[in-house]
Amino acid sequence: MTQSKNTAKGTLYVVSAPSGAGKTSLLKAVLERMPDLKLSISHTTRQQRPGEVDGSDYHFVTVEAFKQMLDEGSFLEHAEVFGNYYGTSKIWLEQQLQQGHDVILEIDWQGARQVRKLMPECRSIFILPPSQQELLNRLTGRGQDSEEVIQSRMAAANQEITHYDEYDYLVINDEFEEASHQLASIFTARRLRLQSQKIRQAALINDLLG
Ligand code: GDP
Ligand code: ADP
Ligand code: 5GP
Repeated sequence: MTQSKNTAKGTLYVVSAPSGAGKTSLLKAVLERMPDLKLSISHTTRQQRPGEVDGSDYHFVTVEAFKQMLDEGSFLEHAEVFGNYYGTSKIWLEQQLQQGHDVILEIDWQGARQVRKLMPECRSIFILPPSQQELLNRLTGRGQDSEEVIQSRMAAANQEITHYDEYDYLVINDEFEEASHQLASIFTARRLRLQSQKIRQAALINDLLG
């Protein structure tokens, strides 16, 4: 990833949150309004949940296939989370950034650390639930994980939350609409920076300057 550090045109965003805080739902809502943002699809060895689509929610792979990709150097970052492996593959990501697209990685704090080291120009966002109780309600309400999995995710939530101050932005997902607007405003503000607008609006600026 050393090359794209200097030449990448799109912005890379890293979004983390304790499991159940609502990052997937929030990003889905934001992407509906900002369809030109790209969400990276991770590889994982965890079991597919009911309703999840292979190649759309995740690339679901075996441990063997994951390890082979790891040996081949295919991942930008990878981590073991809740006993499963998760990783972001490099190729697609590099292409998107080179083409000027903004890309979002929905990854845990361990992965976020690796990405920040490799690509310090990335922007990172942490999402918090409004309370411990509400986090438990959401994990239970999602209805896709066993009681045992929910308990282990609640225990891991505390660990994940201790890393909140390594991020550039903090969003509290209490009222859904408000949180999704706050998240979208982070992406929008970044696009409105002079250096980005100069490229995006080059034709208009040329025209106005005669
Ligand atoms: P959910 O977050 O509760 O929906 O559960 P998931 O099984 O989808 O994700 C579990 C954790 O793995 C979350 O903290 C994700 O952010 C993290 N994760 C997902 N994909 C990746 C990845 O490619 N790399 C890393 N490092 N973490 C990932
Ligand atoms: P994550 O991807 O962080 O694990 P999800 O997006 O799967 O979290 O959300 C977990 C559950 O909480 C889902 O059932 C979702 O519909 C619900 N949820 C998300 N945001 C809110 C919110 N602001 N208020 C109430 N429930 C929410
Ligand atoms: P998902 O399947 O991603 O968990 O969520 C389905 C839809 O429900 C999303 O498009 C999101 O807009 C909406 N949603 C999820 N949780 C809430 C919530 O607590 N409040 C509101 N208003 N909408 C929600």
